[in-house]
Amino acid sequence: MRRVVLATGNAGKLREMRAILAGHGLQVLPQSQFGIAPPPETGDSFAANALLKARHAAAASELPAIADDSGLEVDALGGRPGLHSARFAGEPADDRANNERLMAELDGVPEGRRGARYRCAMAFVQSADDPRPIVAEASWPGRIGLEPRGGGGFGYDPYFVTADGRTAAEMPADEKNRVSHRGQALALLAARMREAGW
Ligand code: IMP
Repeated sequence: MRRVVLATGNAGKLREMRAILAGHGLQVLPQSQFGIAPPPETGDSFAANALLKARHAAAASELPAIADDSGLEVDALGGRPGLHSARFAGEPADDRANNERLMAELDGVPEGRRGARYRCAMAFVQSADDPRPIVAEASWPGRIGLEPRGGGGFGYDPYFVTADGRTAAEMPADEKNRVSHRGQALALLAARMREAGW
C-alpha cells in the first residue's frame, strides 16, 4: 500500500476520505500524526486552497499528500458561505452556530428559492514543490431545508436536501461517499492519479 498524507483536521472528512481511498490501495495517514498544523487558507478558490494545503502537508511530512477544500454555496446568499463555510458564524468553527446563522439568513426565503450546492476541490502532490499537481473538482446540487433532518454526516448536512428529498444527514455514509461533492472529486482525483502511474 502506498502511503499518502491527508491534509485535513476535520474528523468527518477524514472518515469519509479514508473510506473512499482504502478502495484505491492508498494508506491514508492524517496530518495530525505528523504534528502538522493546518496552514491559513489564503487562496481565492477551493482549488487554490486545496493545493496550498496539500503542498504544506507534503513539505512537513516529506510524503505525497492529498488535500481537499470544500464548502456550501447558497444561491439566495449570492454563493455564500462559500470559501468561508467552516467559519460562517465566526471563530472557532462550530457546526451548530453555522447552521443557526444559515437559518437566520434564509429566514423568509421560500422553498423554491433555497437552491444550493456543495463544492469540493481535491489536490494531490507528490512533493511540496511538485510542478504537476493533480486537481479535481466536483459539486453536489441540492437545496436548504426549513428543518434539520437526520443524524449522519456533519456540518450543514441536516439542512442539505438532495435531489430525492432526503437530507445528506439521512443518507447512509457509504451512499453519501459515492454521490457527494467530496466522493465525486476524490473518485476523479484517484482516476487521474492512476493515469499518472499512481
Ligand atoms: P474546509 O475544511 O475549509 O474544506 O471547510 C469545509 C466546510 O464546508 C465544513 O466545515 C462544512 O462547514 C462545509 N462542508 C463541506 N463539505 C460538507 C459536507 O459534506 N457536509 C456538510 N458540510 C460540509
